[in-house]
This record gives sequence, C-alpha cells and structure tokens, in this order.
Amino acid sequence: MLFYTHLMIGIVAFILTKNFFSGGNEIIFFLLVLLASVFPDIDDGKSKIKKASGIIGSIISFTFKHRGIFHSVFMALGFFLITAIFWNSYYAFAILIGYLSHLFGDMITPMGIKIFYPLSDFKIRGWIRVGGIGEWVVLFGMVILIAKELLF
Ligand SMILES: [Zn+2]
Repeated sequence: MLFYTHLMIGIVAFILTKNFFSGGNEIIFFLLVLLASVFPDIDDGKSKIKKASGIIGSIISFTFKHRGIFHSVFMALGFFLITAIFWNSYYAFAILIGYLSHLFGDMITPMGIKIFYPLSDFKIRGWIRVGGIGEWVVLFGMVILIAKELLF
C-alpha cells in the first residue's frame, strides 16, 4: 500500500480503537498510531519514511529485506513490549495499533506479507494491487469513514 493509504488506515484504526484505551494524552496516542502506521516501510529503500529517517532508515533498508522482519507480527510485538516496559502501556498500544494497521494494509495486496517471518514463510495476501483501482477504493472508503467520524 502507498504512504497515504497507510496513513488513512491508521487514522481509521485510531477511530475504531481509541475508546478502548486510556492513561495518557490522546494527541500523543494519535500521533504514535500515525507514525507506526507508516514506520514498517522503513525497510523499503524508496519509501517516504526511510527517506525521512536519515541514516537510520538507510541502514535498516540496506540491512533488512522489504516486507521481511519489519513486516512481521514479531516486530510489532517487540515495539509494543519495549514501549510498554520503558515508557507507558497506553502509548505502547498506540504503536501496536498503528503497526498492525500497516500489516493489514499490506496483507490485502498480492505481494502479501509473511506475518510470522522469520519463523515461518506462511504468507497472507489479497488481491488489491498497490496503486491500482482497488487501492483507490480502499483509500476513498477510509476517507469517507474519517469524514463521517469528524462530521457526525
Ligand atoms: Zn509495508
């Protein structure tokens, strides 16, 4: 999925889940969901997040293959645990929600993701091509859901 589609799926994930969590600042929670919703593509040398993250992004995208460990549920859980232990479990859930929303977005594309990589090569994939008409439908649907939340 493309950058903006991931952001929109992240915003929808935030809207759907925010009321289940409390214990901190909701704006920080929201920003963390957004950040985590685009972060996994740091393993892609051409992604916006890789370019925005400077040398760290360069090292990660050089070292790890795209849609490998950074697109597995273990990385999502790893960031969740690290944040919960060293910072705050409320914000840890924000990162988990954003991260899982990213994995969901990539899961519905034909390339799919290896959700349990590197333990298993089991792959979940869908039929929505990146940048194709299906992605625009998803993006449009997300914008409608967000607009509905903001207006009603
Ligand atoms: Zn991705």
